[in-house]
Amino acid sequence: MTTTKVQYDNAADIRDLHISLVNTFQSGKTKDLAWRKWQLKQLWWMLEDNDKEFMAAMKEDLNRSNIESMITDLAGARKDILYHLEHVDKWAADEPLGDTFVAKQLRLARIRKEPLGVVLIIGAWNFPLLLVLQPLIAAITAGCCAIIKPSELIPSSQAVLKRLVPKYLDQTAIGVVCGGVAETTSLLELQFNHVFFTGSATVGRIVSAAAAKNLTPVTLELGGQCPAIICKSADIDRAAKCVAFSKFLNSGQICLSVNHVFVDPSVYDKFTERLKHWIHTFLNGESTIDTAIVNQSHFDRLSALIRNTGGSIFCGGGGNRETRRMEPTVVVSLDLNDALLKDEIFGPICPVIKGDFRIAYNATKQKGCPLAMYIFSNDKREIQEILDNTNSGGVTINDVILHAGFSGAPFGGVGSSGYGYYHGPYGFNSFTHLRTVMHSPNWLERAVTFRYPPFNATEIPK
Ligand code: NAD
Repeated sequence: MTTTKVQYDNAADIRDLHISLVNTFQSGKTKDLAWRKWQLKQLWWMLEDNDKEFMAAMKEDLNRSNIESMITDLAGARKDILYHLEHVDKWAADEPLGDTFVAKQLRLARIRKEPLGVVLIIGAWNFPLLLVLQPLIAAITAGCCAIIKPSELIPSSQAVLKRLVPKYLDQTAIGVVCGGVAETTSLLELQFNHVFFTGSATVGRIVSAAAAKNLTPVTLELGGQCPAIICKSADIDRAAKCVAFSKFLNSGQICLSVNHVFVDPSVYDKFTERLKHWIHTFLNGESTIDTAIVNQSHFDRLSALIRNTGGSIFCGGGGNRETRRMEPTVVVSLDLNDALLKDEIFGPICPVIKGDFRIAYNATKQKGCPLAMYIFSNDKREIQEILDNTNSGGVTINDVILHAGFSGAPFGGVGSSGYGYYHGPYGFNSFTHLRTVMHSPNWLERAVTFRYPPFNATEIPK
């Protein structure tokens, strides 16, 4: 794997870019629906014309196969563009207000959908395109100007975005800033109208504290620690296959990956056997997963987790530090206090804990609110009880990750996994101010004379 060098932006460039976007927003250009649709179409063509280049960049950054980049980053962004193009007129239209049908028809009040202004989108590295482009699609649809700041840990993808975004999109309204902590810090000193952040809780705190100084609203899309709960009524083979899949996709480096698994004691042995079976099947003769761990420091972090666990290695355990490719690793016989369960794993290590679904949901409650939860059960009452006793960003039952694929469904964390939503109308609303406008007609003045002092109780209308 080679490493592409990227020219980082300096603080003066960042300030100039910000000033020019503020001027553009004030000109009103981006509020025009035709401009928004044109930009969405241009974004589509950027991905369509250059998909091979984007896939090559993600291969260079993460050793990802083209098919994996196609079904995640590229297909996800394209699907979103089409959905936004289809709905932008409806979402952006004024909404008549009124408690009754007649009141609505009178059109005395309405909600105007006003773009927030100039927004900052900060991405994580694990989906190099999607995590900056999906919020950008929502920001454009809402009529905002935007700066995107992809992660510095994926230099090749960052370089392609830096080169192609200005070529396809309106440079006066949309910019790309390359860099890491220093550049993001410079950005956060500026007055934005919204900051949309995807990343770790630690950096999320820094971002929201910086934004608070400017009273800037923030969306925080934070980390996972998503549990899978395997009940005794579940289809165990299917559950094992889905859990293994979630550890292979992007090498388990997904906020929605299964972090750890609780399995009912009566099906524990069967589950771990099937998990090993599917891991071997997916490896197809190899010992490590193709997609690499993002860098050697994360590789070392994951290797230390394997070394320090008090559990037993059921399969895997190794890897190649040079290529950063890891063996999918299943850890069994561990207790709830094991070091492996302390923080989000974000890699292809799968701790499997023996415990029925009540132990599982009680332990999950203690850990905060995961971004997602996966319940494998064929018993409706069991499923209901787990849902009633837990909280999470989203849930998929008898599969993994799928709930995040609905274009019109809200996506976001709760509690420790973040706040705010995007995808479909929820993303549009994140970048929109809902401005209530009441137009008082002359006849209303005659109907509400009772509101003026001096107040006389006998005049209260019945
Ligand atoms: P990170 O928090 O280290 O970095 C995210 C972004 O913040 C990067 O662009 C980085 O340049 C910037 N940054 C890093 N340190 C900073 C600092 N001190 N000040 C200002 N900016 C700083 O996260 P990551 O390692 O890129 O991504 C992994 C995390 O993201 C995981 O926790 C994962 O669960 C989470 N994630 C969440 C979602 C979601 O939708 N909820 C999606 C993907 C990833």
